[in-house]
Amino acid sequence: MASKQDTNEAESSGGTDAMPTTLLRAEIATSEEREAPSWNPEYYIRFKQFSFGFNQRRVLSDLNIHFPRNSVTALIGPSGCGKSTLLRCINRMNDLTHGFYFAGDIEIAGRNVMHEEQNVIALRRRVGIVFQESHPFAKSIYDNVAYGLRIVGVRDKRVLDDAVEKSLKRTALWDDVKRRLHESAMTLSVGERQRLCIARTLATDPEILLMDEPCSALDPVATTRVEELINSLKQRYTIIIVTHNLQQAARISDRTAFFYDGGLVEYQSTEDIFMNPQDPRTESYVSGRFG
Ligand code: ADP
Ligand code: MG
Repeated sequence: MASKQDTNEAESSGGTDAMPTTLLRAEIATSEEREAPSWNPEYYIRFKQFSFGFNQRRVLSDLNIHFPRNSVTALIGPSGCGKSTLLRCINRMNDLTHGFYFAGDIEIAGRNVMHEEQNVIALRRRVGIVFQESHPFAKSIYDNVAYGLRIVGVRDKRVLDDAVEKSLKRTALWDDVKRRLHESAMTLSVGERQRLCIARTLATDPEILLMDEPCSALDPVATTRVEELINSLKQRYTIIIVTHNLQQAARISDRTAFFYDGGLVEYQSTEDIFMNPQDPRTESYVSGRFG
């Protein structure tokens, strides 16, 4: 199955970078083929009795949670409670991590993607991921965005040009960079680099966008830009974001899930999690009393 897809390079650069160049487009299922005959958009991504851990140590147990299509969900909870690993399960990035184990299902549009016959490359194309540290390649702005498409064999310049323009427009970078597409990505600011990495992820046309603390290395102005971006992307994508910044969760997410001590404690509308938490542990956490 996965060969070099789980290298650090793939990880730091959007998860699609190590796709084999021999991949045929025909191997990538169309959306009609991907979806089970009937599924509920409310349960677009659905964890069923899902547990995972490393070696003999359980991290999260018996998780049942679902994420609606075209919504933003924030995952919050103290460090080490399993948020990043959970996110990485959705596009199978833990497959080759030493000692990782899981039980249960994760369905996307009604199909269990943890099944051993799941095409992991097709899955990662469908489920993009963005990390805390943005790592553009030492290539031009254009080549960074076109990277994932070239790797799946797209050579047509018009197709690449269109995808680059569309992705940079979606991340609100186009006007700033359209006259210097062939300059190095390293000339961009840290905040622009993060948006470039998001554009690179969008270029292969995913449906789901996973973000693991995407703003924690950014200053407040760059953070605001990324938050505006997330808000504009949710018409088109289903977004799950891990954040340590509770104000950020409150600003950008429709729903929030609070994890603590090996499990999901509470999952509600973001307004309820912050204004009317049901569990005393949630209340303590969102009021800053631990974490
Ligand atoms: P969070 O993102 O909520 O801070 P993580 O998902 O990174 O939490 O980690 C959850 C738990 O799993 C932690 O106890 C961490 O030490 C452990 N863990 C994460 N990655 C590995 C790994 N590759 N090998 C062993 N344990 C790991
Ligand atoms: Mg983490």
